Amino acid sequence: MKFRNFKTVPRMIFGRGSFEQLDDVLAEQRQTDRDFVVFAVDSVHKGKPLEGRIPTRPQDMILWVDVTDEPKTTYVDALTIEVQKFGKGNNPVSVVGLGGGSTLDLAKAISLMLTNEGGSASYQGWDLIKNPAVHHIGIPTLSGTGAEASRTTVLTGPDKKLGMNSDYTVFDQIIMDPDLIKGVPTEQWFYTGMDCYIHGIEALNGTYINEFARAFGEKSLDLCREVYIDDHPDADEKLMMASYMGGQSIAYSQVGACHALSYGLSYVLGYHHGIGNCIVMDVLDEFYPEGVREFREMMKKHNITLPKGITKGMSEDDMQKMIRVSSGLAPLWDNVYGPDWQQQVTPALLRSLFEKM
Ligand code: NAD
Ligand code: ZN
Repeated sequence: MKFRNFKTVPRMIFGRGSFEQLDDVLAEQRQTDRDFVVFAVDSVHKGKPLEGRIPTRPQDMILWVDVTDEPKTTYVDALTIEVQKFGKGNNPVSVVGLGGGSTLDLAKAISLMLTNEGGSASYQGWDLIKNPAVHHIGIPTLSGTGAEASRTTVLTGPDKKLGMNSDYTVFDQIIMDPDLIKGVPTEQWFYTGMDCYIHGIEALNGTYINEFARAFGEKSLDLCREVYIDDHPDADEKLMMASYMGGQSIAYSQVGACHALSYGLSYVLGYHHGIGNCIVMDVLDEFYPEGVREFREMMKKHNITLPKGITKGMSEDDMQKMIRVSSGLAPLWDNVYGPDWQQQVTPALLRSLFEKM
C-alpha cells in the first residue's frame, strides 16, 4: 500500500480583521515597481466596502469574476487570456482569489494556466499539471467548501466535471478572516455550510477513514453543530475553521454517495454544489441515517425548504447522463462500499435515488 504524501497550505493567517495583512503578504512577492498582482474578486463585492479595502497598487489588475455558473474550463481559459493580455508577456507575482469556493477555484485555476499551456480541460484529472503555478492566495468570503485547504480546483469541462488535482493547485497562502463571511444570505450560508457538514458525514462513514482524517472530520462536524444547531455567538469563526478542517479531513480520506450523486445532478441540471448536495442528502437515509436526521433538524431550524420533484419529466437521455457521471466516480463509491462497489452501484439503484429527488 502506498500512503498519500499530502501537501498542505504552507502559510495561513486566521482572525477577525486579518484581511488587513494582505498588503504585507503581497509586499513579500513584489520585487520591483512593475511587479503586478491579479485580484480575482467575486462580482458580488463590486461597489461594497470590501472593494475599497483591496490593497491594490496602480500596476495591479482587478479581475471581477462572475460565478453565476460554477467554474467552467472555457471561463478559466478566457480569464487567463485576459490576465496574459494585461501583463503583456509577464506573469503576475501573485493571483489572489477573494470570494466563495467558485472564486477560490478560479484563482487556483488561473494561477496554474498561466504556467501550463494547452487549456484547462486537458488538465482535469490527477497530477497532470507539469509546472508550478504562479504564487496564489485564497481568501474565503463564504465558508464550507474547504476549497481554501484542498489540492483541487473543480471545473466543468466539455465532457466532465472534474478537478485539476495536483500539489501545485494548493494555495501558497490563505487568509481566513471571519469578518468577511458576515452577511452572506441565509440560504447560501446554509447550503455552503452543509457542504462542509456532508464532507464530514461522508468521510467519517467511509471505508477510507483513518485517525488522521477522523481527527479533522470529527472536529469539523462538532463545529458545524455549534453553528447550525447551537447558534453559537462565534459562529463565523467556527464555520471558517469547520470548512478548513473539513478540507483537511477529505484530503486524507474521500467524500461519498452524496457527492457522487450531486456531481451527476449538477452536471445535467446545473444545480450549484451546495444546494445540489442538500437535495441529494435528503434522500440518503439508507446511507447515512444519523447524518440525514441531523441534517433535517438543521434545515428545520433555519427554515430551509428544498426544491422537490426536480427529476420529474426529465428525458431518458438526461437520466442516463446523470447515472453515467455519478457511477463514474470510482473512488467515491469505493469509499462507500469498498473495492467491490461496482456490484452495488447499479443503474437501477442510482435511478431510484434520482427519482426521489
Ligand atoms: P460560490 O462561490 O459559487 O458562491 C455562491 C454565491 O455566494 C455566489 O452568488 C457568490 O457571489 C455569493 N457570495 C460569496 N461570498 C459572499 C459574501 N461574502 N456575501 C454575499 N454573497 C457571497 O459558492 P460556494 O458554495 O462557496 O462554492 C461552490 C463551488 O466550490 C463549486 O464550484 C464547487 O465545485 C466548488 N468546490 C470546490 C472544492 C475544492 O476543494 N476545490 C470543494 C468543494 C466545492
Ligand atoms: Zn463538497
